[in-house]
Amino acid sequence: MRIDVLTLFPEMFAGPLQTSILGRAQVNNLINVHVWNIRDYAQDKHRIVDDTPYGGGAGMVLKPDVVVRAIEHVKQDRTAPVIYLTPQGKPFTQSKAAEFAEQEELILLCGHYEGLDERVREHWVDEEISIGDYVLTGGELPALVVIDAVSRLIPGVLGCCESAEFDSFQDGLLEHPHYTRPPEFRGLAVPPVLLSGHHEEIRRWRLRESLRRTLTRRPDLFDAWLASRQTARQLTKAEQQILEEIQAELSRERR
Ligand code: SAM
Repeated sequence: MRIDVLTLFPEMFAGPLQTSILGRAQVNNLINVHVWNIRDYAQDKHRIVDDTPYGGGAGMVLKPDVVVRAIEHVKQDRTAPVIYLTPQGKPFTQSKAAEFAEQEELILLCGHYEGLDERVREHWVDEEISIGDYVLTGGELPALVVIDAVSRLIPGVLGCCESAEFDSFQDGLLEHPHYTRPPEFRGLAVPPVLLSGHHEEIRRWRLRESLRRTLTRRPDLFDAWLASRQTARQLTKAEQQILEEIQAELSRERR
């Protein structure tokens, strides 16, 4: 997969893109990230990239001529979608990451200051993505979030020991808890079932903890998961039984 990033601060990408799983994915040619400096497309002698907003007010707006020159140079005759990172975009989710991971190319456009001139958004941007309901100083960290989440879904990027298959959100639920050696740490024991070697009981325990955790921490996700299972008539007897146990347990705890 090829990802082009347009930014005013290319230096923000070097560390994260060269480290750990993302670094290895690039060395192995599974992802190719090209970072372009928007300032290189300014044509005046001071290389100005922003200007004050029409109508007055605080902040600076990225100039449309400079940004569009950058987009057109990077895009050329390719069909790669231009994704603008903005707090006003659609929320970035695991299913959006999976959708992006199916693409062969993406162009990520990072704003700064007050953001982009609206004409660029309307005519040169294909999609707007937000990484959450808060405002950051620039689109660089959001672009890195998108690159990271998308890359790890590309076949071969994660090693065999790092599978994304059971991660939170993959099946609509939060993942179950994890433990490792030692079996007892400062008087805190690992749940005995995990040491039992009984695969079916471990599977059931993990499903139970995943359901319990999602229900208590993210009732919104739980309701969506339950509704989709019920609509597709895919709620298994085991899931139904575990759910009843959890509901009973929670109502006992509330009393
Ligand atoms: N004035 C803009 C607004 O209120 O919507 C915010 C501009 S923000 C200070 C500067 C840039 O940071 C944006 O153009 C965008 O690229 C990026 N940005 C900030 N928060 C973001 C978020 N939650 N998700 C994605 N991008 C974000």
